Amino acid sequence: MKQPLVDYLLTIDPTDFSSFAVEMRIRNVSDTFHVAMVTHPEYDDRYWKYVEDFSVETKNGKGKIIREDSSLWKIMANGGEAVLHYRIHLPSVTGIRSSWKAYLTSTGGLVGGPHSFMYVVGATLIPSHVTLDIPEEWEITTGLQATSDPNTFYAPSVAVLIDDPIFVGKYKSWPFTVDNTPHRLIYWHLPDAKAFDTIMLLTSIKKLVQETSALFGRLTYREFSFMLQDGAVGSLEHNNSVTVGAPSSQLANGIGDILPDIAHEYFHTWNLMRIRPVEYSDVSYKKAPLSKGLWFSEGLTIFYADLLSRRAGLHVFDSTRLFHLENLIRRYSASPVYLKFSAEKISEASYGPAGMLGDYSGSTHLQGEVLGAMFDLIIRDASNGDRTMDNVMKKMLERFSGEKGFTSNDVEQAVKDVCGCNVHQFFEDHVYGSKQIDFNKYLQLMGLQYTMEWKEVLSNDLRPVPDLRAFSYQLPGENILRIGISNPTSAWGRSGLHTGDIIKTVNGKVVANSADFRSLQRNAKIGDTIAVEIERSSKLVKIDVLITGYQQPVVHITQLPTITEKQKKLYEKWVAGK
Ligand SMILES: [Zn+2]
Repeated sequence: MKQPLVDYLLTIDPTDFSSFAVEMRIRNVSDTFHVAMVTHPEYDDRYWKYVEDFSVETKNGKGKIIREDSSLWKIMANGGEAVLHYRIHLPSVTGIRSSWKAYLTSTGGLVGGPHSFMYVVGATLIPSHVTLDIPEEWEITTGLQATSDPNTFYAPSVAVLIDDPIFVGKYKSWPFTVDNTPHRLIYWHLPDAKAFDTIMLLTSIKKLVQETSALFGRLTYREFSFMLQDGAVGSLEHNNSVTVGAPSSQLANGIGDILPDIAHEYFHTWNLMRIRPVEYSDVSYKKAPLSKGLWFSEGLTIFYADLLSRRAGLHVFDSTRLFHLENLIRRYSASPVYLKFSAEKISEASYGPAGMLGDYSGSTHLQGEVLGAMFDLIIRDASNGDRTMDNVMKKMLERFSGEKGFTSNDVEQAVKDVCGCNVHQFFEDHVYGSKQIDFNKYLQLMGLQYTMEWKEVLSNDLRPVPDLRAFSYQLPGENILRIGISNPTSAWGRSGLHTGDIIKTVNGKVVANSADFRSLQRNAKIGDTIAVEIERSSKLVKIDVLITGYQQPVVHITQLPTITEKQKKLYEKWVAGK
């Protein structure tokens, strides 16, 4: 097909912030073509629901639009040119807004990305320009490339156009430079915002950038924007920016709690945006296949958010690296899910349909971080302390910074090349398989051992905590509430309930939604019996759940009495975060 030329104009009316208008000017196009809105592989916010007043002009008057699917339109426009017009009518927000979703207020907001732009199907590699018509005195921050016109930006491909959100409005902005590369931190605040330590925030972010640059040996972008917002939660990585929900009410109590989120999303700039799992190839209006590689993309990102924060001297949740490792093993050992499903399967389930793992719930973030911690120990031992997981990350960036995506096999190859040892069995057992990790085997490489005890979970006032390890969910397109069991050995799993059972009544009452289910659960005390009526295979079944307490592991890591000089050296370097 022809390579079309596309220019966008996004207009915000200073008297109406309930919507914005998009004009898409297309030249050199077939008489009939398709436009679509991109489905993000992980956060599909389905803004095609909010497209209004869609029309097409051609050289010969109005063209025709046929909606072929929810996010796919067929356009008939003779003469090789078409101008599309549509509005995005912003949804009203219930609860707290997610930081990456498009929104507008009288003092600014977020536009662009998959929430704003359609693209010509089949033409994802074409560049485009975006011009913004915004209220006077508003400023613009985006990862898109600046041009000689301050209101016009350049996107080299649809992937970049869709990935880079555009922050517009009145906000505070602090530029800084690391390794000759321009960065900026912006903070958009609500009218009643609380004051917080902005200097500390800025210096902390700068240190994080310096440590990340030191790890990889260079920065991989032309410029970078940290876009923080008041009144929002959640955060999302982009090509050369991050959007982070950072309520001023929270920052006023200290910036420590927001830094791990910033470190996490920033590290995704390398590990996810550049070192990309093979399933996340080009943008599409269809949902990307579930990824088998997220244990690496998420797990190693969490691993490095912690490690780089330590190197930068920033606030971390666990005071020492040893304490952090104890906590990792404790959380990992608390659930049987990691002995049931491989790392690749739990990766797929991360963004798969609810209930995909049956009566189990697992975290690919946690599992991947545990695996990363073990690789690190194997590499340190095999290389006599000369190499670490840092070398694997660098190798992965060298090999996968282009278009090519990675698989777990590629991680295996990189770990093997760095340690010069055979890790195939480890991958067979713990990445492609789900065997128990023999933690002592790897801890002893640096002269450590661990013990684990199962103890009753207690509240702050030392009373047993009721076992509430079950949840409820709705599948897309369904109007019924289903139960989810997160651990088959929980009070709920033992009672005979299974993930997917349809909840009819709880204690004789109809439960309308997940919030109702949660509040019923919250009131449960140890010794209570909760009567759950469910529908399974078209039959009604009554099940009594006896609420009990439950146990979780407590992990202690200690030094081996027989520690060798080599083990001691490896430990000292590791615990210092080097
Ligand atoms: Zn992440």
